[in-house]
Amino acid sequence: MKNTSNNPQRGQAIVLGASIGGLMVARALSNHFDSVTIIEKDKVERQPSTRKGQAHTRHLHGLLPGGLNAMLHYFPDLQDALAAHGANVCDFAKDMVWYTYGGYRQRFDMNLIGATMSRPLLEHLVRERVLATPNIELMDNTAVKSLIASDDQQRVKGVHIELAELGKSMDLHADLVVDVTGRGSRSAQWLRDLGFEAPETSEVKVNVSYATRVYKRDLNDPRSSNWMLYTPQAPQEMHFAGMFPIEGDRWIMTVGGWHGANAGNDEAAFMDFLRKLPMQEYYDIVSKSEPLSDIMTYKFPHSLRRHYEKLQRFPLGYLVLGDAVCSFNPTYGQGMTSASMQAIELDKMLGANIADEKLALTFFARIAKIIDIPWQMAVGEDFRYPATEGPKPAGVDFINKYISRVHRATLKDPVVCDAFLRVMSLLKAPTSLFHPKILWRVMWAG
Ligand SMILES: Cc1cc2nc3c(=O)[nH]c(=O)nc-3n(C[C@H](O)[C@H](O)[C@H](O)COP(=O)(O)OP(=O)(O)OC[C@H]3O[C@@H](n4cnc5c(N)ncnc54)[C@H](O)[C@@H]3O)c2cc1C
Repeated sequence: MKNTSNNPQRGQAIVLGASIGGLMVARALSNHFDSVTIIEKDKVERQPSTRKGQAHTRHLHGLLPGGLNAMLHYFPDLQDALAAHGANVCDFAKDMVWYTYGGYRQRFDMNLIGATMSRPLLEHLVRERVLATPNIELMDNTAVKSLIASDDQQRVKGVHIELAELGKSMDLHADLVVDVTGRGSRSAQWLRDLGFEAPETSEVKVNVSYATRVYKRDLNDPRSSNWMLYTPQAPQEMHFAGMFPIEGDRWIMTVGGWHGANAGNDEAAFMDFLRKLPMQEYYDIVSKSEPLSDIMTYKFPHSLRRHYEKLQRFPLGYLVLGDAVCSFNPTYGQGMTSASMQAIELDKMLGANIADEKLALTFFARIAKIIDIPWQMAVGEDFRYPATEGPKPAGVDFINKYISRVHRATLKDPVVCDAFLRVMSLLKAPTSLFHPKILWRVMWAG
């Protein structure tokens, strides 16, 4: 996959942030730039580990089939490497025990391959592959403080960085800088400092809480290779639970809810919560399994989208991508897939030699199309709860009524189930659920 661009090599690129989004975009840029430097404020271990800037990576993470496909585009051996490290690489439809809308979804063989593993393992395997690319380097323990601009402030020419270990600051120059610093991105302020408008934002308040615990997994239990999911029939049910097999013969179990509904974070409340779930597997397995961690909690107040696609002007030599553009309610598991798809889009655009002056606005328009789908799916579901606040997409109540019927139909009908899971996995557009072939089956099932 190296150097597929028709362009001469473009000099130096800098990527801010070494999480999944930053790693994927660095790999994409390595096809078009002489050298790519990733700058990460945390110290990065060359092994699976959680970093200070990434509290969320301690919690349940699944890699959707769409995300695995996107990663395999650059790292064809990733699926085998995941399996070799003990991750659970499995058929999304066949191996998932999923209770929703009052019943268990039947399990069908659909060859929809996704993965469950600890998030640090996935990131480590991606990072090792990215850093094995000859023209990519990582500067960790280094925080980006501000942008360096041309005298007329129209072009970003690099970044001002602070090296924690050496206790010194310096300037790094580049032909392209990409901000992948996540939800806390400071691009809006940096743009204002250069005299540009900051993007409008959409916030959808969901108040989702997570409580996560890791357990030893008994491989003799026939359920040990199933990933288990309980999703609520909203609005009457407000909780969710997921228990995924991960490397090291462990389970990672996350429970939580919307709008303040949570599982409690002490042992007794946690177990009581599991006992009351309609899916008995959780309590049954957990009560016989050795806990390997404390109960860790996480709060996600709102989904956040920054509408870069609406801007009319943008500095040359600068882009923003991943959670820095859109951070989705994590219960739908879409963030890594969306960021990876955005990185591939950038690779395609650089390969098509889009003029420098048009690059940013064209890029934001294209990734808006990628983001629209998971955003509408996530926000649409969230608006089933009356307590959800924020910009509500038009027609969402009508669509939700239909999707409720789809959910029910997926419990028994393999054709509807296949169509639904492909949409959920970000492999197909949601409009495919309105194809007459599906519509008829959904109505008939209802
Ligand atoms: C609780 C939770 C569960 C989730 N579960 C899933 C899931 O199951 N599946 C899924 O696909 N997605 C999931 N996500 C989303 C997923 O984690 C993100 O979408 C993914 O990490 C991609 O984000 P990113 O790389 O854009 O940003 P981030 O992961 O936020 O990374 C930003 C990076 O930038 C660094 N950084 C920040 N500021 C600076 C600076 N000034 N200088 C240098 N470096 C800086 C940070 O240290 C960090 O490494 C979940 C998210 C949460 C919160």
